[in-house]
Amino acid sequence: MTRDDGTPPRVTLGPTPLKDAAFRKAVGAVDWEVDARYAWDTGVAVGEYLRGLRRGVILARECRRCRRVLVPPRMFCEQCFRPTDRWLEVSDTGTVNTFSICHIRWDMEPLDDPELPAVIEIDEASAGIGFMHKLGEVAPDDVSIGMAVEAVWMPEEERRGSILDIRYFRPRDAKLRTKAG
Ligand SMILES: [Zn+2]
Repeated sequence: MTRDDGTPPRVTLGPTPLKDAAFRKAVGAVDWEVDARYAWDTGVAVGEYLRGLRRGVILARECRRCRRVLVPPRMFCEQCFRPTDRWLEVSDTGTVNTFSICHIRWDMEPLDDPELPAVIEIDEASAGIGFMHKLGEVAPDDVSIGMAVEAVWMPEEERRGSILDIRYFRPRDAKLRTKAG
C-alpha cells in the first residue's frame, strides 16, 4: 500500500503493555478455574540431570568419539550420530557466554531490580555448550562476557529436581559481588 505520493505509509511501532484484565476480556477467555493436569516426561538424560540437581550436583554426558562433554546431558551425540558413553559429575563453576539486562517482566511491567538472564558455560563442558540461567549478587554494570561464576544452590530441603534448585550464578570474584539477592 502506498500514499498518494507513492511512498509507503509510515508505521510507528511501540510496546503494547499486556495486562491481565485484557486477557480476561479476550475472545475465548473463561472466568472459571480450569482443572487441567498434565504430565511431562523428562526423558532419560534430563531426568537424571534433574535428579542430580536435587542432590546438588551438575551431571554431564561424555561422547568418547568427539570427546565432548555435554551439559545439559544428552543420550545421543548429534555430531557423531551415536549414543553418548558415560555420566560425569562436573563442577558448578563456569563462565558467562552471553547475558541480557531485563528491566521489564514478560508482561511489560517494569522491574525495580533488573533480571540478568545469562547463558552459562560450565567449566568442564565443551566450549560453546551452555544453558540458560540467571545471575545474582552482581550489579548489572559489572557483568561481562567471560566472567567467572559459581552456582548458588537452594537449601537442600527446598530442592525439587528443577533447574531452579540452582538459585542463580554469582561472580567468583568476591569483589564483584553485591549483597545476596
Ligand atoms: Zn560425539
